[in-house]
Amino acid sequence: MTRYISILGSTGSIGTQSIEVARKNGIKIYALAAHSNYELLAKQCIENNVFVACIYKEELADKLRELLVGKGVRVITGMSGLCEIVTDKNSGMILNSVVGMVGLYPTLRAISAGKDVALANKETLVAGGELVMKLAREMNVNIYPVDSEHSAIFQCLQGNKRSQLKKIILTASGGPFFGKTENELEDVTIEQALNHPNWSMGNKITIDSATLMNKGLEFIEAKWLFDLNPEEIEIIVHRQSVIHSAVEYADNSVIAQLGCPDMKIPIQYAIMYPERVECDCKPLSLTEYGTLTFDNPDYKTFRCLSACIEAIKRGGAYPCIVNGANEEAVRLFLDGKIKFTDIGRIVEKTLDVFEYQEIKTYDDVVKWDQEARDFVNKSFVR
Ligand code: NDP
Ligand code: MG
Repeated sequence: MTRYISILGSTGSIGTQSIEVARKNGIKIYALAAHSNYELLAKQCIENNVFVACIYKEELADKLRELLVGKGVRVITGMSGLCEIVTDKNSGMILNSVVGMVGLYPTLRAISAGKDVALANKETLVAGGELVMKLAREMNVNIYPVDSEHSAIFQCLQGNKRSQLKKIILTASGGPFFGKTENELEDVTIEQALNHPNWSMGNKITIDSATLMNKGLEFIEAKWLFDLNPEEIEIIVHRQSVIHSAVEYADNSVIAQLGCPDMKIPIQYAIMYPERVECDCKPLSLTEYGTLTFDNPDYKTFRCLSACIEAIKRGGAYPCIVNGANEEAVRLFLDGKIKFTDIGRIVEKTLDVFEYQEIKTYDDVVKWDQEARDFVNKSFVR
């Protein structure tokens, strides 16, 4: 029987690699979605005989339709388009690789429709983790992590008893500014921040990796995905990104997953689980690396990381608030409106000014996400 997959965020770094992985494994693509890159989206639809294309920006729909004339691709738009894809009975597994909080609603709708989700969109789990995991349990659907660290943990859990887990060890590359002080980071340029030592990724996550916000988001993501207490998550800096993360068990045995830094491995594991098949990536040669190093993170310089850990400890809307504040701060930095070091200050400040708020519904997430964004724009844009 033909297997189908639909990919939200197909024109991005994870999306394009996911198409390759699906093709290589003989999985057909039913629908693709992007925000505004209609030219690449059209090309992807034609190359992969896709049935449905969603362009989020409605005003670009006609341009996309023009490129797809006679190709049998139905063009839809906006959030309703994303939701149509994730609830369509033909769309197969959903791979969500959009960037940002905007991915939350389609994730919830996919789960409600009983679809398994391969999830790269980490902001979804940070802002609405409790809602997503609760719904997934109720609907008995699987969330397969695409993020490399979470895929590693998921892999290290196979064949072991969850009840015998002592803690997880989340590895961090440390980003391009490992070892620097806050003072030394005051004049960091956009180009320097976008230059990651080990991974080639979209702009937002690359900045998140430079501020270590990415590791903070992953801390929260791990908490929800694997039902952990914050005390059960240890972060260590491992510059080479060879050990993608590890799990320590009751007997003090530590099981880790290793590989060359290549997102095709976790993408493939998420969409092929539980199968392990040949992957288009470099095999790991440990002797080529020679040395693997480990350090503690610098929580003082990388304020975003501490803010995320504090946010998940406080609970309620705090993770959603730090995520919203960070999304705005990263946008402002990439627009040249604030300094690199302002990102951490803004995230920290936003965490401090809000009172505890409960999250019970999707609307609560939207409200506190927006409040955090409004606060950032009101307080920090000169
Ligand atoms: P990119 O910026 O490269 O791509 C983002 C994708 O999302 C693009 O296809 C973009 O479309 C699309 N998109 C954005 N908003 C919408 C929307 N409203 N509707 C439909 N599509 C939308 O990001 P990455 O691929 O790097 O990252 C995607 C997610 O995966 C992020 O959450 C990131 O944190 C996570 N992740 C990424 C990793 C990586 O290696 N890149 C590793 C682990 C996690 P368009 O091109 O038209 O703008
Ligand atoms: Mg990661």
